[in-house]
Amino acid sequence: MSANLFDLIRAAAPNLEKMAMESPDGLSLTYGELFERSGCAAHALIALGVEPGDRVAVQIDKSPDMIVVVLACLRAGAVLLPLNVAYTLAELEYFLSDAKPALVLCRPVALEAMRTLAEKLALPAVESLGASRDGGFADRIAAAPTEFATVPRAADDLAAILYTSGTTGRSKGAMLTHDNLASNALTLIDVWRFTSADVLIHALPVFHTHGLFVATNVALLSGATMIFQPRFDPDAIVAALPRATSLMGVPTFYVRLVEHEGVTRQSTAHMRLFVSGSAPLLAETHAAWRGKTGHAILERYGMTETNMIASNPYDGERRAGTVGFPLPGVSLRIAEPETGKALAQGEIGVIEVKGPNVFKGYWLMPEKTAEEFRADGFFITGDLAKIDEQGYVNIVGRAKDLIISGGFNVYPIEIEAEIDALEGVAESAVIGLPHPDFGEGVTAVVVSKPEALLSETAVIAALERRLARYKLPKRVFFVESLPRNAMGKVQKKALRDAHEGLYG
Ligand code: AMP
Repeated sequence: MSANLFDLIRAAAPNLEKMAMESPDGLSLTYGELFERSGCAAHALIALGVEPGDRVAVQIDKSPDMIVVVLACLRAGAVLLPLNVAYTLAELEYFLSDAKPALVLCRPVALEAMRTLAEKLALPAVESLGASRDGGFADRIAAAPTEFATVPRAADDLAAILYTSGTTGRSKGAMLTHDNLASNALTLIDVWRFTSADVLIHALPVFHTHGLFVATNVALLSGATMIFQPRFDPDAIVAALPRATSLMGVPTFYVRLVEHEGVTRQSTAHMRLFVSGSAPLLAETHAAWRGKTGHAILERYGMTETNMIASNPYDGERRAGTVGFPLPGVSLRIAEPETGKALAQGEIGVIEVKGPNVFKGYWLMPEKTAEEFRADGFFITGDLAKIDEQGYVNIVGRAKDLIISGGFNVYPIEIEAEIDALEGVAESAVIGLPHPDFGEGVTAVVVSKPEALLSETAVIAALERRLARYKLPKRVFFVESLPRNAMGKVQKKALRDAHEGLYG
């Protein structure tokens, strides 16, 4: 039997008249229309020379047609390679020369430049697709037949390659199989209780695992409806709340929405679930949200390579500042980073995971892949955490962001929490910079609240009362805002680069 993810999605659809994606500008698609359009698009892929196993690179604006293309790739047995629309031509050159796609789909405005790049890299085909059904690929969809015999796939066949955000070193292509995606989405549907009665507000980008797989596959595999919004727009989310049942967002969504006057107990009364992930949600935001709406945000944790790993419970306490428990079917251990030896409960170590959710390896990087797996098959996530007495996983930061100062481990999150609690501080990021005496010097970058009068000496003086000496920042800088990527993650590497050489 074929394990093609599309077949599962097709079988899960409650009825073909049901709305799959509700979108502005008359672009909404029922399940029947979505399946038919994906059949047309699969024909169009094949007409452009795409064969099973070929990569299809897609750098287009968010619209329902992105999901049409995703399904078309599944149906044609192709491997989807979604690319952040913010990538420049220079960045694209790396991804495209690495992945060698049989087809590149781009925005209509980028067509000429993409053709030139494709020629340079000897890539065979480029076509354009716009967010309002414009571009050559949209014309091909319109002209193609709707019936398409989906190509059978094995559970272990590739469905997608997602390049990691590459905050340290070169971006790597994570190879995800049909079963990785299907098994994880089915688990999430179960633990988060998704059904065809759900209406999910989808405002996440669709080139990243959160919006592309978590939100979309959970909605489609439960036969739910998505209110498909082109970008994060607080007003549009507030307008959708009375008709929706659920929202999946990054912490920044909640930080922005909690300030919105339209977010109230009444306006969220129809909602049953708010999920946050992709970056740490501050306990303060969790509390503010609960105070305003009565809902406890459900925080979950995952990464491109592993899909979702852990989640706070649907029933039971959703503990702020934690990512809950490992998902059913996912084995998780906290291990000593150097050896992989499992640590006792309460100790800080690296999160390692194993299960059907874990990817197949990095594209064309067998050595890098081998380095990131233990001999017993556990994947080393690079996230540091401890497990509390009730089994909740507490993430304390990325291993590469750990600061070792004078031989002592300093966890940035601890210092950041202390700084954030000071009056006048909006947010902060703590980094380690090379230091001639200490190895690394703890350094804080702080965003003040408007009109707050904060100084470097005042911040350090306040922290002296709360933190051991070796944890104190040696320098504190004030900035307007912290550098963040599209998923709201603070780019610590950019901060380290900006202050390079500070301590000589
Ligand atoms: P990405 O592959 O872009 O999804 O990034 C995955 C990384 O995001 C993880 O390895 C974590 O460092 C971080 N991350 C995801 N979810 C959370 C969360 N709930 N709390 C803290 N960090 C998170």
